[in-house]
Amino acid sequence: MSLNHVRPWRNIYRRKSRQIMVGDVAIGGDAPIAVQTMTNTLTTDVAATVAQVQAAAEAGADIVRVSVPDEASSKALKEIVRESPVPIVADIHFHYKRGIEAAEAGAACLRINPGNIGDEKRVQEVIKAARDHNCSIRIGVNAGSLEKHLLEKYGEPCPEAMVESGLEHIRILKDNDFHNFKISVKASDVFLSAAAYQGIAEATDAPIHLGITEAGGLVSGTIKSAIGLGNLLWMGIGDTIRVSLSADPVEEVKVGYEILKSLGLRHRGVNIISCPSCARQGFDVIKTVEALEQRLEHIKTPMSLSIIGCVVNGPGEALMTDVGFTGGGAGSGMVYLAGKASHKMSNDQMIDHIVEQVEKKAAELDAAAEAAE
Ligand code: SF4
Repeated sequence: MSLNHVRPWRNIYRRKSRQIMVGDVAIGGDAPIAVQTMTNTLTTDVAATVAQVQAAAEAGADIVRVSVPDEASSKALKEIVRESPVPIVADIHFHYKRGIEAAEAGAACLRINPGNIGDEKRVQEVIKAARDHNCSIRIGVNAGSLEKHLLEKYGEPCPEAMVESGLEHIRILKDNDFHNFKISVKASDVFLSAAAYQGIAEATDAPIHLGITEAGGLVSGTIKSAIGLGNLLWMGIGDTIRVSLSADPVEEVKVGYEILKSLGLRHRGVNIISCPSCARQGFDVIKTVEALEQRLEHIKTPMSLSIIGCVVNGPGEALMTDVGFTGGGAGSGMVYLAGKASHKMSNDQMIDHIVEQVEKKAAELDAAAEAAE
């Protein structure tokens, strides 16, 4: 249960956007902020791409994007869509025919810039295909590929140029009476992204897809994304997110969820609260947390677990978590259940025991949630 009414400093007031559907996933309005990632396999390698989509979905991805650079990829897309447990977004650049083929292949959304795919007739054909196949569109403005006339007008990629580009693309869709779209204004620079997103958030009620593009490797990209996306989400901007990392798509999903979890915007799986450890630790906190993260990956129920090295902070943290363990003396520590000290457990059996306790608690929470429905 949310206690934000007694903790108003935790409230985030989301920008009001209209809602669209990407397949069966609602984006915008009061829908949960969706987590996306993108495959990096060859789309024509259907087995590898489907395996990556499934792994991302298993990690919690609500939607997965797949590149469609050529006709063979459009053909493969049909099979990928059929096998995928989540809606598929087709990433299209320049070739209007790929957009039509992707909509026909069952893509739930086309990531496309209507201004980049040729003359008006071609744009209309893509929009018609999207409409005929109940396919939404994401306008994907990127600081690295702004239109020439905007670069000439503004001199360099800047927030105003990105917003203007986005609004031009929106106008094309609206002129064609197409409203089933969302928009992103990505840049690799955190300041540029944040300013552009704030500008577009004020200028339209379309749902917003957030991302810091080409953010970097796992550590640096995670930090950049957490700062950029975190600030925007905190301001209430953003209806779906993608963390772009030079890393496995599963890592992108995990990082995306952690950002949303940190802000209390979504909850999934076990939120582990652990101390950094020091000479006072009663057991090896770092190794234990590493092992528990792996052993508890299968738990999807939102819940909390505190793993704290000693009594300095252990009992206090355990008060606020579903399951807790605090290191003590003589090779054992205290297990906490629902915030209360429950029983002692030896350090060498503690990992198996905590996994059991978490699984038991998850089953209880699931049963309670089911009964409440
Ligand atoms: S909780 Fe205890 S073991 Fe962990 S960092 Fe603090 S003092 Fe050290």
